[in-house]
Amino acid sequence: MPGAYTLEWRDGRKEDLSGHRGYYYVFPDRSILSFLPDPAWCRHCKQIRLCEHLRDQEALRQELRELADPNSKRSLELAGGSTPGFAERWKQKLEVELRHATLRQMPPSCIHCGHRDVAYFTEGQWAPHPGTGEEVRFYCSGMCSTNFAVRFYDVDCNPLNITEEEKAELWEHVRLNRAF
Ligand SMILES: [Zn+2]
Repeated sequence: MPGAYTLEWRDGRKEDLSGHRGYYYVFPDRSILSFLPDPAWCRHCKQIRLCEHLRDQEALRQELRELADPNSKRSLELAGGSTPGFAERWKQKLEVELRHATLRQMPPSCIHCGHRDVAYFTEGQWAPHPGTGEEVRFYCSGMCSTNFAVRFYDVDCNPLNITEEEKAELWEHVRLNRAF
């Protein structure tokens, strides 16, 4: 589920922001990986936009190493969840994310304009707004439920140039296979 976020200013102003879902990378072999864009500052739009939030290979490898040890904190956290099989599914998704990270060439993209000059807010602590310099605090305030955007991209987040029919086929594949 996408995250719900709050952006807070020193004078008490607050803005609620949320992520969105239904965005998919399509690999050259047509396998599919979903991603959740989050609010970030796009220097081209000069606005808060939904942007890709990429994890680097080392962070993904580190989490996979932790999951390989059944007694690690991360393994125990996942095993404590209420959904049966979730830990295994999470590990499979991380492996696909790592595959994506190794193929990825380009910096993160603003989903709105496609430019790649994106600045993230600092989570959980007062820090300068990347656009205005004013101090703000950005934090995750929960999860939100949204509709599905149903948008498909290559592994570098370039929109796939496909027909409506091809798009419908990919969406059907997502629905039937519960792609990651
Ligand atoms: Zn933009």
